[in-house]
Amino acid sequence: MNFKGMAVHEYSIAEGIVSTIKKLKDANNLISISEAVIQIGSLAQIDRNVLLDLLSILSEEYGLGKVNYIIKYEESSFECNQCGFTWSWSHVKESIMGELCGELKDCDNPVHFIPDLINVFMKCLRCGSQDFKIVSGYDVRLISVKGVRND
Ligand SMILES: [Zn+2]
Repeated sequence: MNFKGMAVHEYSIAEGIVSTIKKLKDANNLISISEAVIQIGSLAQIDRNVLLDLLSILSEEYGLGKVNYIIKYEESSFECNQCGFTWSWSHVKESIMGELCGELKDCDNPVHFIPDLINVFMKCLRCGSQDFKIVSGYDVRLISVKGVRND
């Protein structure tokens, strides 16, 4: 499959999700899968439309047919390793983007594409330390699956 060439990351995630759904379907003796809810962290490096396209292609390939995929977003949050303070991405997004881009409207989120660099762009809001960890909102998770049981 030649899918945009750049979608390797999305492809491996989509394949992980679809193969998990397939296992759930088999393990629970389901005739069909109607709906699957997927949660994307606001710092996850994911192109939502590419992911949805791949999910529908892979669902056919895995014999799941048409599955209604619902995407939800999870706010990223952080915890300082020095003072224990916690904060979320929405608290700091504008000031970080403003610093990085000057003009917010034309800014493509560089942190979105390089979450590993978040410690360079951001400091603890209380003590100013750059020693903090991402506690949520950095990955993609399959939250729930709905199907029709064969009994
Ligand atoms: Zn701190």
